[in-house]
Amino acid sequence: LSEKLQNALGKLKGKGKLTEKDVNDAMREVKLALLEADVNFKVVKDFISKVKDRCIGQEVMESLTPAQHVIKIVNEELTSLMGSVQSKISFASKPPTVIMLVGLQGAGKTTTCGKLASYLKKQGKKPLLVACDIYRPAAIKQLHVVGSKLGIPVFDMGDKQDPVYIANSGLEEASKKGNDVVIIDTAGRLHIDEDLMDELKNVKSKIKPHEILLVIDAMTGQDAVNVAESFNNALGIDGVILTKLDGDTRGGAALSVRAVTNKPIKFVGMGEKLEELEPFHPDRMASRILGMGDVLSLIEKAQEAIDIKKAKEMEEKLKSQHFTFEDFLEQLEQVKKLGPLNELIGMIPGLSNAKELKDVDFDDKELVKIQAIIQSMTKKERQNPSILNASRKRRIANGSGTKVQDVNRLLKQFEQTRKMMKQFADIEKSMKKGGKFK
Ligand code: GDP
Ligand code: MG
Repeated sequence: LSEKLQNALGKLKGKGKLTEKDVNDAMREVKLALLEADVNFKVVKDFISKVKDRCIGQEVMESLTPAQHVIKIVNEELTSLMGSVQSKISFASKPPTVIMLVGLQGAGKTTTCGKLASYLKKQGKKPLLVACDIYRPAAIKQLHVVGSKLGIPVFDMGDKQDPVYIANSGLEEASKKGNDVVIIDTAGRLHIDEDLMDELKNVKSKIKPHEILLVIDAMTGQDAVNVAESFNNALGIDGVILTKLDGDTRGGAALSVRAVTNKPIKFVGMGEKLEELEPFHPDRMASRILGMGDVLSLIEKAQEAIDIKKAKEMEEKLKSQHFTFEDFLEQLEQVKKLGPLNELIGMIPGLSNAKELKDVDFDDKELVKIQAIIQSMTKKERQNPSILNASRKRRIANGSGTKVQDVNRLLKQFEQTRKMMKQFADIEKSMKKGGKFK
């Protein structure tokens, strides 16, 4: 999908003024690309008409070419299609928070129970896994294996008891042992049937979970979306976990599920390993689908917003390691002109998926904080951060209304930027010499 969309929109590039025909032609191709990606037909239709409405008769932003403006609108509409903001787990005001994972056989429920527990454990929660799949051979054992790998307790009562009773006993166990999150692994079927739904409904009405999360397999495309619709109608769900996104090249399920069910995707599974679960960010997904890992568009955008001469000077400084906090601040201010940071990061190939950046939330609030910290430094400190001792850091934190930890974090980021830039410069040097990457 990514490639198709890039092609469709790529044709608009370099156009000064767009005619209605340009937009129509591009939208026809976008439509085909979405349909081919197995996005629900109705969703595609609504999407295209929204984008068209917004494109035609709109003032083009000063900093963008008309073509970029269309791409921006497509990006925004893709984001809003997937729910705009990241949707988090809602925790119970009185623990334990009960999360029930449901879905068809093989969708990834048991694996995801483990992944989710591990994710929440890292946030300081104390999860308990409860084995309620009494049908699939070895399902209970599988959950135990997952639990023991992660050091997370698993509660089971064998396969002779009723799932409702097991789930309820699991809650009691959690209260006894002080677990503040209970994650219930339920049975699946190959297809949706009444027996399964009845069982799930019974568990639901007995234990009243705070979150019913439906696990669906991204690789099954529109089937997954149909499954989501049926589960939502029959049982009622609070959100979706989309697994096997690592093997999904089309992106159809990710794009349609929210529009069809009106329920958000909360997490995505990116692999078989138990750490491969990520919160779902609609904006990042949209950029990925649009193939925003596109240096050209980044450069185009940057050239308009950044003073080229200053940028050149900055580059020299970075390479020569004379890069100070003053430069850093100036650079931040330039970057701010470019728009939301997340969007920019997404445009840098390789960086958009970089592990280190995943957990960093580059929001603009963070930027304001960083600015305040740097502004609270003396000139000397900005030029030579190595003189920052504990008392100076405390003074800076006080002056900027932040904490010493924030100051330390910034120092670390600054050091990393400096190192990274040094590496880029070295790579560039070796490329100029005709050398190869090792
Ligand atoms: P369940 O029947 O719904 O409980 O599904 P399982 O948890 O047993 O998973 C079925 C298969 O899908 C297993 O082989 C998992 O390793 C695999 N799986 C689950 N999540 C992911 C994912 O995000 N990516 C990939 N590649 N495989 C996954
Ligand atoms: Mg299972």
